[in-house]
Amino acid sequence: MQKLITLKIDQQIIQAEEGSNLLKVARENGFNIPGLCFHNKLTPTAACRLCSVKIKNTKGITMACGIKVSDGLEVIAFDDELHENRKQTLIHLLSEHNPAFDDTYYDEFRELIHAFKIDTNKTGNVSKEIIFQETVIDSSSPALVYDSSKCIKCFRCIKACTEIQGKDILSFAERGISSYIVAGTGVWGESECDGCGECIQLCPTGAIVEIPHRSEIKLSKITKKVQTTCPYCGVGCQLLLYIQDGKIMRADGFENSSPNYGRLCVKGRFGYDFVHSKERLTKPLIKKEGIFVESSWEEALTLIASKFNFIKKNFGIDANAGYSSAKCTNEDNYIFQKFIRLAFESNNMDYCTRLCHASTVTGMIKSINSGAASNSIEDFEETSCLFVIGNNIIDTHPITATYVKRGVAKGMKVIVCDPKWTPLVKYAKIWLQPKAGTDVALMNGMIQVIISENLIDSDFINARIENGMVAYEELKAVTEKYTPEYTEKITGVDKEKIITAARMYATAETAMIATGMGMSQQITGTANVFSLLNMCLITGQIGKALCGINPPRGQNNVQGATDVGVSPFYFPGYIPITNTENRKKLANIWKVKEEKISSKPGLTTIEIVHAVHQGDIKGLYIMGENPLVTDPNLNHTRAAFQKLDFLVVQDIFMTETSLEADVVLPASSFAEKEGTIVNSDRRVLRVRKAVEMPGEAREDWKILVEIAERMGVSIGKYADAEAIFKEIAMVTPIMAGINYTKLEKGGIQWPCPDENHPGTPTLFLDKFSTPSGKAKIFPVEYEEQSEKVSAAYPLMMNSGRILNQYHSTTMSRKNNVLNEYGNQSYILMHPSDVQKYNISNGEKVRVINKRGELMTTLRESTEVLQGEVFMPWHFGESLVNNLTRDEMDEFSKIAPFKLSAVRIEKIEQCIPSEIKI
Ligand code: SF4
Repeated sequence: MQKLITLKIDQQIIQAEEGSNLLKVARENGFNIPGLCFHNKLTPTAACRLCSVKIKNTKGITMACGIKVSDGLEVIAFDDELHENRKQTLIHLLSEHNPAFDDTYYDEFRELIHAFKIDTNKTGNVSKEIIFQETVIDSSSPALVYDSSKCIKCFRCIKACTEIQGKDILSFAERGISSYIVAGTGVWGESECDGCGECIQLCPTGAIVEIPHRSEIKLSKITKKVQTTCPYCGVGCQLLLYIQDGKIMRADGFENSSPNYGRLCVKGRFGYDFVHSKERLTKPLIKKEGIFVESSWEEALTLIASKFNFIKKNFGIDANAGYSSAKCTNEDNYIFQKFIRLAFESNNMDYCTRLCHASTVTGMIKSINSGAASNSIEDFEETSCLFVIGNNIIDTHPITATYVKRGVAKGMKVIVCDPKWTPLVKYAKIWLQPKAGTDVALMNGMIQVIISENLIDSDFINARIENGMVAYEELKAVTEKYTPEYTEKITGVDKEKIITAARMYATAETAMIATGMGMSQQITGTANVFSLLNMCLITGQIGKALCGINPPRGQNNVQGATDVGVSPFYFPGYIPITNTENRKKLANIWKVKEEKISSKPGLTTIEIVHAVHQGDIKGLYIMGENPLVTDPNLNHTRAAFQKLDFLVVQDIFMTETSLEADVVLPASSFAEKEGTIVNSDRRVLRVRKAVEMPGEAREDWKILVEIAERMGVSIGKYADAEAIFKEIAMVTPIMAGINYTKLEKGGIQWPCPDENHPGTPTLFLDKFSTPSGKAKIFPVEYEEQSEKVSAAYPLMMNSGRILNQYHSTTMSRKNNVLNEYGNQSYILMHPSDVQKYNISNGEKVRVINKRGELMTTLRESTEVLQGEVFMPWHFGESLVNNLTRDEMDEFSKIAPFKLSAVRIEKIEQCIPSEIKI
């Protein structure tokens, strides 16, 4: 904290931190000095000249936004002369401004005009005709419109784009009254603008406004603004939803609160129309003779209860299973695991975490007994070095990426390791581009450099690693053959780059790792994570501030669902299901006999599919997941689902999966319920109800309670979501000190063991979570991937996400803005391969392997290596997972989504009727 000084504003004595901005200090102390170009999140500009003040012993008038406070400063903020000065400045600004107002945006300028009682009709030394002649309107963006006649050239949008989002896309064109804002080289829709809307949120005059709901929204008719959490990725951005006539009309980023401090990406700002989609499920549906028929809740719930009871009775308690949802709240997920444990009486439950970060969590738990992110999102701006591996963070976690970009502007060094180019490469010091699947060799190569150059932290090794230098020597013995030359041969990465990256990471004052699904979704996923952790541990780049390892989570509540017990292996709070003491405690709180809670490990996602094929699983309950897009080897999964005796899907839309169901139940979206989620930095955040559910849709947890009751099992009677959270806190030690009242002040990072605990921004500062408090090193050898290219399938396919679509697109594809930024499947191929296979850019192609095939469009690109191709996996009409494998990493049971050998054919080479999609 800076030194506190004393200053006077209009004779009032004020204390402030030395060097703080005077305008900010004045406003925080109730002096509402006007100013349009100033924003707390931006560096001062002094462009609008409205925040004029007088400083004692300084001649004339000066701009408050340009002054840093110091001890003894005396300021006059309000007098007649200043009032007149500000009024004349406003009149001057108004003379070049179109004052028309349609009540669709918040207009700070207009408010000042009214406050200063300026007549907009009489004012102005520039004819309005001239203004309109010079007006530039750019409506080429899918997300926003710019109107230069309303622009006062305050620079807020330009600075929002550069300083907050780190994109640097906006600038001025022309001069004087003719000047206007341009994106990129001139046309907004052709620029790199990705529609985050930071400029819209910060524009003080309505010169930049969003396109959605333009003709409907009336700010004077907004009945409430609700703070809640974004329903998309694991950043957990805080939104402010504007509600008019019971509908969401707008989303702003919620200012002054972590994790986003007002920032949003395009999905958070424009991805909410799905809530009011006409395609929402509104009534229970029962499949009768192959056709879905609307039913009453009573009929549907009774049928479900009787079917699952029948299966239990006739095939045993292990014959039912459930998939839960990373899009549902902690409260929904907690009730889900209780439902499976008490009503099904098994631990056969899983969800998408198995398919994204199971290997990361498994590796981290074995090594440091915690699978969660070590750091806070803010650390991504402050650390000195960031190693980003297998993680396209700008597309997958855009707001985390804004911190990284701001860090780079302050001198942070970024190392990107990815076989495919990602936008972060533009900000990186080094890009390591290994051949897909060679991560262990690369990490061992970096470890070899670190050891051979004695860049290890032996104090840390001795103090914080089990068996200290003995464990280190074992790692040294395994990695010593991975010389830079040997590693280059395996990975294809230039040996000099390996050496530079190793030195950069090991010698950085502080270094963090952001690992992603490029690392985890491999048959060697756990080994990959071990090798990464080994490097982290021997350099001591963990266990201190701004250091650690972070696996940003894909969906908004991937973290929370396991935290609250949706796991075949863990009770809430990562307590093993074999822990008898905890079983007793749960039995007591759940008011059931101890033996009713199974200690037999359940089946994981892929194991459930295999068990269905074997006839061991007969009934499946799916809450908010779409495995017939997201599971690997979909032809095999689809065949399994067709074998099920009974399938129930609870969701907000009809999906590829619910089409296969026997009963479909209409559930609630994020905007229709109370609850909490846990984001990627372990932050428990509130979800709040903003609008009513459509038709007869119900809250997810309430549906489960009702079914359990009809199965003859009580899983508790809860008045509301808060009552459920109270129980979560009782059985989940890492959340014991969290409650809804505390969460009103903002998110809390677990562990938070008691009511007085503030939460934990950084993990492992004193010790690791293992019983000994020390970490374990697991040396690993590089092994070739089981999937290999061949003459029949000569290309290795990688897959991943894109910024403007999300998961299986059930939500994102129902929003026009998101679709306009990209709504089509494609495959990226290196130009030399395009030539080799005689295909043209933009041509329709068939992608084939022994597991299945799909059709898509070819895009020539140097983003991928020769011999490798890349596809976004979101699109149901080009199911990438037709081609992926359902083999499993032996430790974590994750599937190797990232590596599938394929061949590509021009579409005319095949007969369309032969294509199986
Ligand atoms: Fe939502 Fe993630 Fe975008 Fe934030 S970064 S607005 S949480 S999708």
